[in-house]
Amino acid sequence: MPVNQNILTRRRLLKLLLMAYCASMMPPVLGRKSQLLKGKNIIVIGAGISGLTAASELIQKGANVTILEANNYIGGRIKTDWSLGKDAPFEVGAGWIHGPSQDNPTKQLADKSGCKYFLTNDDNISTFDSDGTIWSDEKFEAVVEKWEKALYLVDQELELNDRRNLRKAIQDIYPAALNDPGVLWALSAYTEFDKGTSIEKVSAVFHDDDKAFDKPDVIIKNGYDSIIKKLSENLDIRLNNKVSKIDISDKDFVRVQSNNKEFKCDSIICSVPLGILKAKNIKFKPSLPKKYIKSIDKLGFGSVTKIAMKFKDIFWDKETQYFGINTDIKGRWNYWLNYRTFSRENILLGLSVGDYALIADRMNDQEMKKDAMKVLRDVWGRNIPDPTDVLTTRWSKEENILGAYSYPSPGSTPRDYKVLSTPVDGKLFFCGEHTNFDYSATTHGAYLSGIRVVKDIEKAILN
Ligand SMILES: Cc1cc2nc3c(=O)[nH]c(=O)nc-3n(C[C@H](O)[C@H](O)[C@H](O)COP(=O)(O)OP(=O)(O)OC[C@H]3O[C@@H](n4cnc5c(N)ncnc54)[C@H](O)[C@@H]3O)c2cc1C
Repeated sequence: MPVNQNILTRRRLLKLLLMAYCASMMPPVLGRKSQLLKGKNIIVIGAGISGLTAASELIQKGANVTILEANNYIGGRIKTDWSLGKDAPFEVGAGWIHGPSQDNPTKQLADKSGCKYFLTNDDNISTFDSDGTIWSDEKFEAVVEKWEKALYLVDQELELNDRRNLRKAIQDIYPAALNDPGVLWALSAYTEFDKGTSIEKVSAVFHDDDKAFDKPDVIIKNGYDSIIKKLSENLDIRLNNKVSKIDISDKDFVRVQSNNKEFKCDSIICSVPLGILKAKNIKFKPSLPKKYIKSIDKLGFGSVTKIAMKFKDIFWDKETQYFGINTDIKGRWNYWLNYRTFSRENILLGLSVGDYALIADRMNDQEMKKDAMKVLRDVWGRNIPDPTDVLTTRWSKEENILGAYSYPSPGSTPRDYKVLSTPVDGKLFFCGEHTNFDYSATTHGAYLSGIRVVKDIEKAILN
C-alpha cells in the first residue's frame, strides 16, 4: 500500500535524522572510546597500584605509556617479603584487603591474580595491660563500647567547620573516655592505626567520614604483591628513574626530567605519594596553582611501623588472632598479629602507630627489636627468648614515600582531596590514594584513582 509506505518512509527518515542529531550531541568518547587515546604519549610517574592501574587502562585504550619509578622495585606501598618463610608473607606496606566484597576492586584484582585468602577475625583478640594482666571479656567489651560512644558523640556534636583534633573534641565532649586507659588503647590501636596518625593530629570532623566496602578483612596468603605482578604485565616500566621536574609550560608537549634523562610526552600522570608532594621533591613549571599548594599543605601524611619477629618456639596462644597490649606510651607496639593462625612459622607482627610510629621509625633494627621485645617481655615474662629473625619497616624514612598514608588534619576537608585530583592545564593529572577522600589510605582507593585519572585525560582531550 503506497500511502502507508510513504508514511513509513517519512517516519523512517525522521527517525534517521533524529538518530543523527542525537549522535552529534553525544560526547564522542561514548562512540569512539578506544580511538581517543590512540597514539598519545603518556608518562606515568610512580609504579604503585594507582600508577600501574592508570597505565594498564591507558594501554588498553591505545596510548603509548612509559612508567618512571624512582625505586628499584614496583608496587610502592605494596611490597611482600618472603624471607621469614614460604607460607609467611611479611607485608611491608598494605597487609589486609579491607572490606573484600565483590565490589571492592582490590578483591576483584586479587581474584584475577589467583590469590588465596585468610579471613582475619578482629574479635579473636586477647588484650593485656602492660604488666601482663589479661583483660576479661567484660572489660574488653566495656572499653570498645566507650570508644565507640566517644566517636559517636564527636560525630553527632561537631559542625562541619569545626577545627578541633580528635583528642580535643573527645576531651570537650566526653572527657570520661580519656580518663580510661583502656579507651586510650582502643583509640590508638584502632583509630590511630586506621588513620596512620595520632588522635592529636587527625581532624575530629572528618576522621571517619570516608567509605568502606563490606565484609571482614582478609590477608592474601600468596602475598599482596601478586596483584602488582598481574597489573604490571606488559607495561613499560623504567625503574631507578626518579623524576625531579615536570614542565608543562610548552603548548605542545610536557617535559619530564628524571635522574636518568629528559622525556617528552603529551600528558603526564603524577602518582607519587602525598609525602613526596609535601616535601616538594618534584619541581613543577609553572609552579602548581595556589589551591594545590594549600591542599598539599593542609592534608596530613603519617606513618605506621611494623616489626615481624620469628621465634624458635611459640610462647603465646596459638589460636588467638590478635594481641592487644595497653602499653604505657600511647601507640607503642600495642597491636600484634599472630602468624600461627595462618602460617607454620612462629611469628608475631607488632605495630607502632600514631606519634610513636615516628619515634620507632628513627630506631635502628637493634633498637627497634629491643623496644618491641621489652613490650612482649612485660606480658609474657622476662625469660622469653630473643627472636631468631627480625624484619622492620620505616615508611617515614623511605625517601620515595616519606610516610604510610594520608589523613585529614584539622582544618582540612574532603575538598582538599578533590583539589589534588583535579587536572592542571589539561596536561598534568594526579592520582594516588591521597586524591580519593572516600577510599583514601587504602589500596582500593588508590586503584579507583587510577581508573578516574584515565577518564580525566579522555575528558581533557575532548575539551
Ligand atoms: C604500613 C602500611 C600499611 C598499610 N596497610 C594497608 C592495608 O592493610 N590495606 C589497604 O588497603 N591499604 C593499606 N595501606 C595503604 C596502601 O598501601 C596505599 O594506599 C596504596 O598502596 C598507595 O598506592 P599509590 O599508588 O597511591 O602510591 P604508592 O604505592 O606509594 O606509589 C607511588 C610510587 O611513586 C614512586 N615515586 C615517588 N617519588 C617519585 C619520583 N620522584 N619519581 C618517580 N617515582 C616516584 C614511589 O616510589 C612509589 O612506587 C598501607 C600502607 C602502609 C604504608
